[in-house]
Parts: sequence; C-alpha cells; structure tokens
Amino acid sequence: MAGPCGVESPGQVREAAALVAAGGARVLRGGAFKPRTSPYAFQGVGAAGLDWLRAAADAEGLLVVTEVLSEHDARAVAEVADLVQIGARNAQNFALLRAVGATGATALLKRGPGTTLEEWLLAGEHLLAAGAAGVVFCERGVRGFDQATRHLLDLGAVALLGPVMGQPVIADPSHAAGRRDLVPHLSRAALGAGADGLLLEVHPDPACARSDGPQALDPAAWAALARTLGLSARRPTEAAT
Ligand code: PEP
Ligand code: MN
Repeated sequence: MAGPCGVESPGQVREAAALVAAGGARVLRGGAFKPRTSPYAFQGVGAAGLDWLRAAADAEGLLVVTEVLSEHDARAVAEVADLVQIGARNAQNFALLRAVGATGATALLKRGPGTTLEEWLLAGEHLLAAGAAGVVFCERGVRGFDQATRHLLDLGAVALLGPVMGQPVIADPSHAAGRRDLVPHLSRAALGAGADGLLLEVHPDPACARSDGPQALDPAAWAALARTLGLSARRPTEAAT
C-alpha cells in the first residue's frame, strides 16, 4: 500500500497512483481528512478528496485505503474506500470504531503510540463486534525515549500478532521513522518479522508535499524499494498472463 500522506489535488493523486502502480503496489493510500498535531497545519482537503482518490485508483486498477476522522464521515469514507483507516490517534476512539464497524467495511487499524497489544486487539474486537468485515492491524511505531528515530517500530508486536497469533498485520515504516532514508531498512525488517504488507508514504514531489514530506519516498526511492522487494514481479495483472 503506497501513496501520499494527504490527498492534495486531483492531479497529485493521479500522478501518485500511476507512480505506485508502476512500482507494483496494490493499494493507493492518501488522507482526505488529516489528523494533524497542530491546528495550523494542513488539515486535508475534505470529502472532495475521496472522489479524487477513488478515480485515481480506478484508473490504475488499485484499491483504496483512506482515513476516517469522525463517525459523521464513516459512511461516506466506507463508500469509496476498500479499507477504512483508523489513525493512531483514534485507535481507542470507541464511538468511531463502532461507527466504522457498523458500515460493514474492512478496517485498517493503526496502533496508537501508547496502545498496548491487548488494547489494540480489543479495539479490533470493537470493530468486529459492531459489524466490520475484517480488521488489518497496522504497526506504525510507539512512543520511545529517543527522538532520533521518532517512534519505535515494534517488530516484536508484528511477529506476535502476525506469525504467532495469525492476525493480518502490516507495518507503516514511514510514520515510525519520520525520515525517508530509514524507510527501506525498516520495510525489509518488518517483512522479515512477518508483516503481511507495508503502508508506505510516496509522493511525486516530496519537497512540495503539504504534509509529511520528509518521510515520503520520492519516485526514484520508491522505484528502488519496490525493486528490492520484488513488487513489480508480483503484479496481479502480470501473474494472470
Ligand atoms: C497517516 O497514515 O497519514 C497517519 C496520519 O498516520 P498515523 O495515524 O499512524 O499517525
Ligand atoms: Mn502521514
């Protein structure tokens, strides 16, 4: 799963979709609604971005994962998304979990930076109890003591949830690292620990990104990582021919 942090314009997501599809991604990511630490930072383009994202993904044969911030938007997001993302800040927002579950969607549930494994699993139970079709757990780093690597990507949790407990689990090295040069290394480490997939921030022009530019892979870095992961060789369209 790859794409920009935020949906910025129809052109930006079209470009991003073509880029990630060419590398072999299956799912396009991008937030129309952005949870930002500062109220003065870019908050996302809102509902219009959902349609831009869906159209861009459809044009490339990709699925869509996008974040929902409020229970009021749960239905609208579930209508366009193949996976409804619950962000780290909302990992224990039970009203939101119930509202997303009630749509019958499959949820991508990020782990909160201070959420224990048990709390994370129970948040997944909230989604399923409310009616979610499924839950994919996404490890994106917990709060450690050292800002040098931003968050601590908990690969023990990936191994425990995935290979040991048999739950679908992916890793988001972009938000864990906060800087693009760590992302390829953490990606390989997460897959080594048993992650079923990755959620990666990729931007056609990271220097101009309206959010999370420093951690976004640029087109060359994305192409290189996709190659080392052998993604393009596993494209479903190629496998079918
Ligand atoms: C995101 O995926 O863009 C995001 C905001 O992630 P997180 O909730 O993990 O901070
Ligand atoms: Mn982001």
